[in-house]
Amino acid sequence: MLKAAGLAVLAVAVAAVAGVATQEERSMAAQPARTTPTPLPVKPTVKPTSTARPVVPTAATSKLYGAGQVAAVPCVLPRKRPSAKAELMGYARVALACMDRAWAPVIKRAGGSYWSLEIYPYDVVQLPLECAAARADTDAYYTSGRICFEWREYIDPDYPQQALVDFQDMLAHEYGHHVQQATNILDLYDNQAWKQTQAEQLESNRRMELQASCLGAAFLGANRAGFGLTGVRRDLWVYRTRHQGDEYNPRKVRDHGARVNFAYWTARAFASRNPASCNTFTATSKRVS
Ligand SMILES: [Zn+2]
Repeated sequence: MLKAAGLAVLAVAVAAVAGVATQEERSMAAQPARTTPTPLPVKPTVKPTSTARPVVPTAATSKLYGAGQVAAVPCVLPRKRPSAKAELMGYARVALACMDRAWAPVIKRAGGSYWSLEIYPYDVVQLPLECAAARADTDAYYTSGRICFEWREYIDPDYPQQALVDFQDMLAHEYGHHVQQATNILDLYDNQAWKQTQAEQLESNRRMELQASCLGAAFLGANRAGFGLTGVRRDLWVYRTRHQGDEYNPRKVRDHGARVNFAYWTARAFASRNPASCNTFTATSKRVS
């Protein structure tokens, strides 16, 4: 759908240029004796400047933003807080099934194609084949319908409540990437990357990552009751959203976004429960710094 929309815009642009050319030809034909060519009319264009932010228009015009709120779905998560790898996996499967049910109608309304994703735990000394792309500076990542997570990062006997909230938030964020994939936003983003400078690529990457967290927050906001994100546990979630971002990356690479912007996008979407709050691709550079 998005590619088709893009082509339609392109077609209109081509038609407009073609129209100008035809008019020009007519004017040339009417005055064949003139030696000085008629200057082309100056088109009122937006002057490109070096500070212009890179635009990824197709990701910015996705139908996802008009697909409506994420639903609250019945979700019975394990009561016991996970304290081992197998328990984390059991918890994740239930949580992801709830995300499937909540997101599937939104993806459908956005014209995307929905499919379930897979999840794999790993630890740094024992990388399963499915998680071979794991990096030392991330606790989890998404790739083509698959979540990989470093399971030991989500068990903390000293702060068990925070560890579980972190786990829920990680699943919601990675599922946000799955929504981007299902609605073609990830592919559209990839298509833009090759023609961007490194700085522009980093900014686009931040737009994508902040959007994944924003979409995750829309789900968690809609399902705050099922996920127990009320009262103190909601405060723990807010704490997490305010304490993540590039400031915490040991490599200091600016590819995910500043903590202030994680807080900004997630707070909006938690309240609205709507991907309409998550169009990071039309936001100012400051909002995706
Ligand atoms: Zn991510």
